[in-house]
Amino acid sequence: MGWRANGSGIRLIHMAYDFTGKIALVTGSSRGIGAGIVRALDERGARCVVNYFADAEGRNRLEAEAVGASLRSAVLMECDVSDAAQVRAMMDRIASECGGLDILVNNAGILRDRTIGKMTEDEWESVIRVNLSGAFHCIQQALPILRAGGRIVSLASVSGQLGLFGQANYAASKAGLIALTKVAARECARKQVTVNAIAPGFIQTEMTRDLPAEVVERTLAALPVGCFGEIADVVNAVLFLCSAEAGYITGQVLNVNGGFLM
Ligand code: NAP
Repeated sequence: MGWRANGSGIRLIHMAYDFTGKIALVTGSSRGIGAGIVRALDERGARCVVNYFADAEGRNRLEAEAVGASLRSAVLMECDVSDAAQVRAMMDRIASECGGLDILVNNAGILRDRTIGKMTEDEWESVIRVNLSGAFHCIQQALPILRAGGRIVSLASVSGQLGLFGQANYAASKAGLIALTKVAARECARKQVTVNAIAPGFIQTEMTRDLPAEVVERTLAALPVGCFGEIADVVNAVLFLCSAEAGYITGQVLNVNGGFLM
């Protein structure tokens, strides 16, 4: 894989990862990084469950259908990961329709930025519920159906390591996710399932599209590589941690941040 020129054109890794016969669930895969992950796993032989969160306008369902239609083989499942009962029902469906699970990627996440003084109870709780409790529900409910050699990868964030300004809820959820990853790695080792986290820095998706200009400017100035990351940068890290080649790596946080934190 070559290094990028002028901050664009990063390619998906060309190593011959083979996920043939594997069943993969990627939460929040109707767009952004999650959609990139299911496309890459599908191209390499996995059968993917595309999970989306139903909104009143049906936009997410349409996006999930478009992602599903672009895959060789996909199953669409509506589920709000913050609701334990919905997650249990999704895992039951995966067990009965797919026969089990090999790869769980906890990707679903939301942002509700505000300084601590102004943050509402709902802004605090909704982010913890989706980003942290959502991953907990998925890991807990996946355990009975995860097969030996399985992989769990969770999308944390550099904010969970640094505690970025205005992100008390988000940073706390991602720091919690890193701790959850380490506990799960210890508890899942006997099942021959590895559990790791990826901590992206600033990646170009809808989540970062509306950042204030001064934040973008300040961040770029602090980034040794001088540009935001691309979805493929994160997808490459997920592919590696899900691969057979990463079987001796567990309980780790892989930073994908362009040198923002080192
Ligand atoms: P995104 O474009 O906003 O996508 C987030 C995804 O999460 C969407 O597919 C959304 O589904 C889904 N989601 C939200 N609430 C959900 C719920 N309750 N149940 C199920 N799915 C839900 O974000 P992204 O940039 O791709 O980020 C993906 C992950 O990487 C997140 O965990 C994020 O925190 C992390 N991350 C991103 C960055 C970055 O710079 N972009 C940096 C560090 C970490 P719908 O479309 O159905 O609403």
